[in-house]
Amino acid sequence: MTAADTTPIPPSPRHAPGATTAPQTLRDAPPPGPGGDWGPPPPGPQDQPRGPGAVLAGGAQPATLEAVALSAWFGKRKVLERCSLRMEAQKVTALIGPSGCGKSTFLRILNRMHEVVPSAQIAGRVELDGVDIYGGSLSTTAVRTKIGMVFQKPNPFPAMTIGQNVLAGLKLSGTKSGVDLPALVEECLTKAGLWNEVKDRLNEGGQTLSGGQQQRLCIARALAVRPQVLLMDEPCSALDPISTRVVEETIVELADDITIVIVTHNMQQAARVSTQCAFFLVEDQGKPGRIIEAGDTRVMFEAPTDPRTFDYVTGRFG
Ligand code: ADP
Ligand code: MG
Repeated sequence: MTAADTTPIPPSPRHAPGATTAPQTLRDAPPPGPGGDWGPPPPGPQDQPRGPGAVLAGGAQPATLEAVALSAWFGKRKVLERCSLRMEAQKVTALIGPSGCGKSTFLRILNRMHEVVPSAQIAGRVELDGVDIYGGSLSTTAVRTKIGMVFQKPNPFPAMTIGQNVLAGLKLSGTKSGVDLPALVEECLTKAGLWNEVKDRLNEGGQTLSGGQQQRLCIARALAVRPQVLLMDEPCSALDPISTRVVEETIVELADDITIVIVTHNMQQAARVSTQCAFFLVEDQGKPGRIIEAGDTRVMFEAPTDPRTFDYVTGRFG
Protein backbone atom coordinates (compact mmCIF):
# COMPACT_ATOMS: atom_id res chain seq x y z
CA MET A 1 0.00 0.00 0.00
CA THR A 2 1.34 3.29 -0.94
CA ALA A 3 -0.73 5.36 1.46
CA ALA A 4 1.31 7.20 4.02
CA ASP A 5 1.30 5.27 7.23
CA THR A 6 -0.41 8.15 8.94
CA THR A 7 -3.47 7.13 6.95
CA PRO A 8 -4.46 3.72 8.18
CA ILE A 9 -6.43 1.54 5.87
CA PRO A 10 -9.96 1.43 7.21
CA PRO A 11 -11.19 -2.03 7.99
CA SER A 12 -13.82 -3.47 5.71
CA PRO A 13 -16.95 -4.96 7.26
CA ARG A 14 -14.85 -8.10 7.70
CA HIS A 15 -11.82 -6.06 8.71
CA ALA A 16 -9.86 -7.03 5.67
CA PRO A 17 -7.76 -4.00 4.80
CA GLY A 18 -7.04 -5.18 1.28
CA ALA A 19 -10.70 -5.63 0.51
CA THR A 20 -11.46 -1.94 0.74
CA THR A 21 -8.54 -0.61 -1.23
CA ALA A 22 -7.69 -0.70 -4.88
CA PRO A 23 -5.71 -3.78 -5.88
CA GLN A 24 -2.03 -3.30 -5.29
CA THR A 25 0.56 -3.42 -7.98
CA LEU A 26 1.31 -7.08 -8.47
CA ARG A 27 4.65 -8.25 -9.57
CA ASP A 28 5.54 -11.69 -10.82
CA ALA A 29 3.53 -14.51 -9.35
CA PRO A 30 5.47 -17.23 -7.56
CA PRO A 31 6.51 -20.09 -9.79
CA PRO A 32 3.70 -22.62 -10.01
CA GLY A 33 4.30 -25.91 -8.29
CA PRO A 34 3.73 -29.23 -10.03
CA GLY A 35 0.05 -29.12 -9.17
CA GLY A 36 -0.56 -25.61 -10.51
CA ASP A 37 -0.25 -22.47 -8.48
CA TRP A 38 -1.35 -24.09 -5.26
CA GLY A 39 -2.54 -27.62 -5.70
CA PRO A 40 -1.10 -30.82 -4.33
CA PRO A 41 1.20 -32.62 -6.72
CA PRO A 42 -0.92 -34.64 -9.14
CA PRO A 43 1.28 -37.72 -9.77
CA GLY A 44 0.09 -41.16 -8.73
CA PRO A 45 1.66 -43.20 -5.92
CA GLN A 46 4.39 -44.56 -8.15
CA ASP A 47 5.58 -41.01 -8.80
CA GLN A 48 5.28 -39.85 -5.22
CA PRO A 49 8.67 -39.00 -3.81
CA ARG A 50 9.02 -40.65 -0.41
CA GLY A 51 10.96 -39.96 2.72
CA PRO A 52 11.51 -36.81 4.74
CA GLY A 53 11.26 -33.66 2.69
CA ALA A 54 9.47 -35.31 -0.17
CA VAL A 55 6.05 -33.80 0.43
CA LEU A 56 7.28 -30.31 0.83
CA ALA A 57 9.81 -30.53 -1.94
CA GLY A 58 7.08 -31.77 -4.26
CA GLY A 59 4.42 -29.32 -3.14
CA ALA A 60 5.64 -25.80 -2.77
CA GLN A 61 8.56 -23.65 -3.73
CA PRO A 62 10.35 -21.79 -0.96
CA ALA A 63 9.45 -18.12 -1.05
CA THR A 64 10.79 -14.85 0.26
CA LEU A 65 8.45 -12.82 2.42
CA GLU A 66 8.97 -9.08 2.56
CA ALA A 67 7.35 -6.52 4.85
CA VAL A 68 7.52 -3.00 3.49
CA ALA A 69 6.91 -0.04 5.82
CA LEU A 70 4.36 -1.95 7.90
CA SER A 71 2.49 0.06 10.48
CA ALA A 72 -0.30 -1.31 12.66
CA TRP A 73 -3.05 0.05 14.86
CA PHE A 74 -5.49 -1.32 17.41
CA GLY A 75 -8.22 1.30 17.23
CA LYS A 76 -6.46 4.66 17.42
CA ARG A 77 -3.41 3.21 19.08
CA LYS A 78 -0.46 2.73 16.77
CA VAL A 79 1.59 -0.26 17.84
CA LEU A 80 4.02 -0.70 14.93
CA GLU A 81 5.84 2.03 13.01
CA ARG A 82 7.03 1.50 9.43
CA CYS A 83 8.65 -1.89 9.90
CA SER A 84 10.47 -3.22 6.85
CA LEU A 85 12.04 -6.66 6.83
CA ARG A 86 13.04 -9.17 4.19
CA MET A 87 12.60 -12.78 5.34
CA GLU A 88 14.62 -14.85 2.95
CA ALA A 89 13.56 -18.16 1.43
CA GLN A 90 14.99 -21.23 3.18
CA LYS A 91 16.24 -19.20 6.11
CA VAL A 92 15.13 -18.79 9.70
CA THR A 93 14.46 -15.20 10.72
CA ALA A 94 14.11 -14.55 14.46
CA LEU A 95 12.06 -11.63 15.78
CA ILE A 96 13.45 -10.52 19.13
CA GLY A 97 12.72 -7.71 21.57
CA PRO A 98 11.00 -6.99 24.88
CA SER A 99 7.35 -7.86 25.49
CA GLY A 100 4.80 -5.47 24.05
CA CYS A 101 6.96 -4.13 21.22
CA GLY A 102 4.76 -5.63 18.50
CA LYS A 103 6.46 -8.87 17.49
CA SER A 104 3.28 -10.95 17.60
CA THR A 105 1.35 -8.21 15.82
CA PHE A 106 4.00 -8.08 13.09
CA LEU A 107 3.89 -11.88 12.75
CA ARG A 108 0.09 -11.93 12.56
CA ILE A 109 0.09 -9.29 9.83
CA LEU A 110 2.31 -11.61 7.79
CA ASN A 111 -0.55 -14.07 7.30
CA ARG A 112 -3.51 -11.74 7.61
CA MET A 113 -4.48 -12.74 11.12
CA HIS A 114 -4.20 -9.20 12.51
CA GLU A 115 -7.37 -8.27 10.68
CA VAL A 116 -9.52 -10.68 12.71
CA VAL A 117 -9.36 -8.14 15.56
CA PRO A 118 -12.27 -5.76 14.85
CA SER A 119 -10.37 -2.50 15.47
CA ALA A 120 -7.18 -3.60 13.74
CA GLN A 121 -5.74 -1.67 10.82
CA ILE A 122 -2.50 -1.67 8.90
CA ALA A 123 -0.54 0.37 6.41
CA GLY A 124 2.32 -0.88 4.31
CA ARG A 125 2.77 -4.01 2.20
CA VAL A 126 3.55 -7.67 2.69
CA GLU A 127 4.88 -9.42 -0.39
CA LEU A 128 5.28 -13.14 -0.92
CA ASP A 129 7.76 -13.47 -3.76
CA GLY A 130 6.68 -10.05 -4.94
CA VAL A 131 2.90 -10.61 -4.69
CA ASP A 132 1.12 -8.34 -2.20
CA ILE A 133 -0.85 -10.67 0.10
CA TYR A 134 -3.27 -7.80 0.78
CA GLY A 135 -3.52 -6.89 -2.87
CA GLY A 136 -6.72 -8.73 -3.74
CA SER A 137 -5.30 -11.55 -5.87
CA LEU A 138 -5.18 -13.98 -2.95
CA SER A 139 -7.98 -14.95 -0.58
CA THR A 140 -7.24 -14.94 3.14
CA THR A 141 -7.51 -18.75 3.05
CA ALA A 142 -4.96 -18.92 0.24
CA VAL A 143 -2.64 -16.61 2.18
CA ARG A 144 -2.95 -18.66 5.36
CA THR A 145 -2.36 -21.86 3.41
CA LYS A 146 0.83 -20.52 1.89
CA ILE A 147 1.89 -18.87 5.13
CA GLY A 148 1.16 -21.16 8.07
CA MET A 149 1.28 -20.38 11.79
CA VAL A 150 2.31 -22.31 14.88
CA PHE A 151 1.29 -20.77 18.20
CA GLN A 152 2.85 -20.50 21.61
CA LYS A 153 0.51 -23.00 23.22
CA PRO A 154 0.18 -26.32 21.38
CA ASN A 155 -3.42 -26.56 20.21
CA PRO A 156 -4.17 -30.00 18.72
CA PHE A 157 -7.87 -30.58 18.10
CA PRO A 158 -9.04 -32.51 21.17
CA ALA A 159 -11.69 -34.61 19.45
CA MET A 160 -9.28 -35.83 16.74
CA THR A 161 -6.71 -38.59 16.65
CA ILE A 162 -3.05 -37.88 16.01
CA GLY A 163 -3.47 -38.84 12.34
CA GLN A 164 -6.63 -36.77 11.92
CA ASN A 165 -4.91 -33.77 13.48
CA VAL A 166 -2.18 -33.87 10.84
CA LEU A 167 -4.78 -33.81 8.06
CA ALA A 168 -7.11 -31.31 9.73
CA GLY A 169 -6.11 -28.34 7.58
CA LEU A 170 -6.47 -30.04 4.20
CA LYS A 171 -10.17 -29.50 3.72
CA LEU A 172 -10.07 -25.87 4.76
CA SER A 173 -7.22 -25.15 2.38
CA GLY A 174 -9.10 -26.80 -0.49
CA THR A 175 -6.53 -29.51 -1.07
CA LYS A 176 -7.87 -31.80 -3.75
CA SER A 177 -8.65 -35.47 -3.44
CA GLY A 178 -6.21 -38.03 -4.79
CA VAL A 179 -3.60 -37.33 -2.16
CA ASP A 180 -2.06 -40.42 -0.55
CA LEU A 181 -3.17 -39.51 2.96
CA PRO A 182 -1.25 -42.16 4.96
CA ALA A 183 1.92 -41.17 3.12
CA LEU A 184 1.23 -37.50 3.81
CA VAL A 185 0.70 -38.21 7.52
CA GLU A 186 3.97 -40.13 7.68
CA GLU A 187 5.95 -37.54 5.81
CA CYS A 188 4.66 -34.57 7.79
CA LEU A 189 5.20 -36.33 11.12
CA THR A 190 8.69 -37.33 9.97
CA LYS A 191 9.42 -33.74 8.98
CA ALA A 192 8.16 -32.55 12.35
CA GLY A 193 10.45 -35.02 14.11
CA LEU A 194 7.57 -36.99 15.64
CA TRP A 195 7.01 -40.04 13.43
CA ASN A 196 9.07 -42.55 15.38
CA GLU A 197 7.33 -41.62 18.61
CA VAL A 198 3.77 -41.89 17.30
CA LYS A 199 3.78 -44.28 14.34
CA ASP A 200 2.13 -47.04 16.41
CA ARG A 201 -0.49 -44.79 17.97
CA LEU A 202 -1.87 -42.69 15.12
CA ASN A 203 -5.41 -43.52 16.20
CA GLU A 204 -4.96 -42.22 19.73
CA GLY A 205 -6.14 -38.74 20.66
CA GLY A 206 -3.80 -35.83 19.96
CA GLN A 207 -4.07 -34.76 23.57
CA THR A 208 -2.55 -38.02 24.82
CA LEU A 209 0.83 -36.61 23.73
CA SER A 210 3.24 -34.61 25.90
CA GLY A 211 3.43 -30.84 25.42
CA GLY A 212 6.53 -31.07 23.25
CA GLN A 213 4.97 -33.83 21.16
CA GLN A 214 1.77 -31.80 20.80
CA GLN A 215 3.75 -28.85 19.51
CA ARG A 216 5.46 -31.07 16.92
CA LEU A 217 2.02 -32.43 16.00
CA CYS A 218 0.91 -28.84 15.39
CA ILE A 219 3.98 -28.32 13.22
CA ALA A 220 3.07 -31.48 11.25
CA ARG A 221 -0.49 -30.17 10.84
CA ALA A 222 0.84 -26.86 9.55
CA LEU A 223 3.13 -28.67 7.09
CA ALA A 224 0.36 -30.85 5.62
CA VAL A 225 -1.03 -28.01 3.51
CA ARG A 226 2.44 -27.38 2.07
CA PRO A 227 3.12 -23.85 3.25
CA GLN A 228 5.90 -21.83 1.72
CA VAL A 229 6.40 -19.95 4.97
CA LEU A 230 5.92 -21.05 8.57
CA LEU A 231 5.39 -18.39 11.25
CA MET A 232 6.08 -19.46 14.83
CA ASP A 233 5.16 -17.31 17.83
CA GLU A 234 7.30 -18.41 20.78
CA PRO A 235 6.73 -22.07 19.89
CA CYS A 236 8.89 -23.40 22.72
CA SER A 237 7.93 -21.11 25.56
CA ALA A 238 5.56 -23.71 27.06
CA LEU A 239 8.02 -26.60 26.60
CA ASP A 240 10.67 -28.22 28.77
CA PRO A 241 14.34 -27.91 27.71
CA ILE A 242 14.52 -31.33 26.04
CA SER A 243 11.35 -30.80 24.01
CA THR A 244 12.61 -27.33 23.18
CA ARG A 245 15.81 -28.79 21.77
CA VAL A 246 13.88 -31.30 19.65
CA VAL A 247 11.63 -28.56 18.26
CA GLU A 248 14.68 -26.39 17.55
CA GLU A 249 16.29 -29.23 15.60
CA THR A 250 13.05 -29.62 13.69
CA ILE A 251 13.01 -25.90 12.85
CA VAL A 252 16.56 -25.98 11.52
CA GLU A 253 15.76 -29.00 9.31
CA LEU A 254 12.52 -27.49 8.04
CA ALA A 255 14.38 -24.41 6.88
CA ASP A 256 15.82 -26.48 4.03
CA ASP A 257 12.34 -26.50 2.52
CA ILE A 258 10.49 -23.48 3.81
CA THR A 259 10.97 -19.97 5.06
CA ILE A 260 10.63 -19.70 8.83
CA VAL A 261 9.93 -16.64 10.95
CA ILE A 262 10.08 -17.25 14.69
CA VAL A 263 9.38 -14.96 17.63
CA THR A 264 11.50 -15.87 20.63
CA HIS A 265 12.44 -14.34 23.96
CA ASN A 266 15.23 -16.85 24.35
CA MET A 267 18.43 -15.34 23.00
CA GLN A 268 20.23 -18.68 22.99
CA GLN A 269 17.42 -20.05 20.88
CA ALA A 270 17.63 -17.13 18.46
CA ALA A 271 21.36 -17.74 18.17
CA ARG A 272 20.94 -21.49 17.69
CA VAL A 273 18.17 -21.56 15.10
CA SER A 274 18.21 -18.32 13.14
CA THR A 275 20.35 -17.00 10.33
CA GLN A 276 18.93 -13.50 10.55
CA CYS A 277 17.36 -11.47 13.33
CA ALA A 278 15.25 -8.36 13.70
CA PHE A 279 15.28 -6.42 16.96
CA PHE A 280 11.99 -4.72 17.83
CA LEU A 281 11.72 -2.02 20.49
CA VAL A 282 9.32 0.57 21.89
CA GLU A 283 11.71 3.49 22.25
CA ASP A 284 9.45 5.66 24.44
CA GLN A 285 6.52 4.47 26.48
CA GLY A 286 3.27 4.74 24.55
CA LYS A 287 5.04 4.93 21.21
CA PRO A 288 4.72 2.21 18.55
CA GLY A 289 7.29 -0.54 18.25
CA ARG A 290 9.97 -0.23 15.58
CA ILE A 291 12.63 -2.45 14.08
CA ILE A 292 15.79 -0.94 15.50
CA GLU A 293 18.17 -3.20 13.65
CA ALA A 294 18.03 -6.32 11.49
CA GLY A 295 20.64 -8.49 9.88
CA ASP A 296 22.83 -11.53 10.11
CA THR A 297 22.31 -13.23 13.48
CA ARG A 298 26.00 -13.53 14.18
CA VAL A 299 26.55 -9.82 13.55
CA MET A 300 23.49 -8.91 15.62
CA PHE A 301 24.89 -10.88 18.55
CA GLU A 302 28.57 -10.08 18.21
CA ALA A 303 28.79 -6.61 16.71
CA PRO A 304 25.40 -4.91 16.47
CA THR A 305 25.28 -1.35 15.20
CA ASP A 306 22.87 -0.01 17.81
CA PRO A 307 23.89 -0.05 21.49
CA ARG A 308 20.30 -0.95 22.45
CA THR A 309 20.56 -4.15 20.38
CA PHE A 310 23.76 -4.98 22.22
CA ASP A 311 22.16 -4.31 25.60
CA TYR A 312 19.17 -6.49 24.73
CA VAL A 313 21.02 -9.48 23.30
CA THR A 314 23.43 -9.46 26.24
CA GLY A 315 20.53 -9.51 28.69
CA ARG A 316 20.91 -5.99 30.11
CA PHE A 317 17.19 -5.33 29.70
CA GLY A 318 14.03 -6.95 28.44
P1 ADP B 1 4.83 -8.63 21.62
O1 ADP B 1 4.45 -9.85 20.86
O2 ADP B 1 6.13 -8.02 21.18
O3 ADP B 1 4.83 -8.87 23.11
P2 ADP B 1 2.26 -7.62 20.77
O4 ADP B 1 2.32 -7.60 19.30
O5 ADP B 1 1.52 -8.74 21.41
O6 ADP B 1 3.75 -7.49 21.37
O7 ADP B 1 1.60 -6.27 21.29
C1 ADP B 1 1.98 -4.99 20.79
C2 ADP B 1 1.09 -3.95 21.43
O8 ADP B 1 -0.24 -4.11 20.95
C3 ADP B 1 1.01 -4.06 22.94
O9 ADP B 1 0.98 -2.77 23.48
C4 ADP B 1 -0.30 -4.76 23.18
O10 ADP B 1 -0.85 -4.38 24.41
C5 ADP B 1 -1.14 -4.30 22.03
N1 ADP B 1 -2.14 -5.32 21.62
C6 ADP B 1 -1.87 -6.60 21.27
N2 ADP B 1 -3.00 -7.25 20.94
C7 ADP B 1 -4.00 -6.36 21.09
C8 ADP B 1 -5.42 -6.41 20.89
N3 ADP B 1 -6.03 -7.53 20.48
N4 ADP B 1 -6.13 -5.29 21.14
C9 ADP B 1 -5.54 -4.15 21.55
N5 ADP B 1 -4.21 -4.03 21.74
C10 ADP B 1 -3.46 -5.11 21.52
MG1 MG C 1 4.03 -11.80 21.51
